Amino acid sequence: MEPLSADDIRRSFVNSTKSQVKALTLPQNFAELPWESLDFLGWRDPKAPNRGYLVVRRDAEVTGIAVTTQASGKARRFAGLCDLCNTTHHVSDVALFAAKRAGSAGRAGNTVGTYICADLACSLYIRGLKELDVPQGETATPEVRAERLTTRLHAFADRVLA
Ligand SMILES: [Zn+2]
Repeated sequence: MEPLSADDIRRSFVNSTKSQVKALTLPQNFAELPWESLDFLGWRDPKAPNRGYLVVRRDAEVTGIAVTTQASGKARRFAGLCDLCNTTHHVSDVALFAAKRAGSAGRAGNTVGTYICADLACSLYIRGLKELDVPQGETATPEVRAERLTTRLHAFADRVLA
């Protein structure tokens, strides 16, 4: 993806209050992010571990989505699948994230939930840039997987914006 500035990112959030945006912490490696290997920018807040952020570029538009997750001690399944990139993980490495919906729906408490790689590093997993210790059933090429990831990500963003 095309690199984003800190200002681009802070301006992009569709489901956060001004004070939440002010309080967010950028990724620790922000200055050296591998933009060319990213389909979206996703990270967990280094100072608020139950918070995460996904920033998606669509044409000229940048959409930032804040998500939260509960630390779950209970593993109901042995393995879990990320709904965005379809990477298989140990159940502790995939998390159920909730995104508050944009606008009045979100203020009324409506959320959209989805399972995502717990570190929000989908782009790196599908390219083999981050190690996985669970056998993968997926055989598609990184290019095909990136296309599918983008499609699912846009659908997720549309549900948040709807
Ligand atoms: Zn993923």
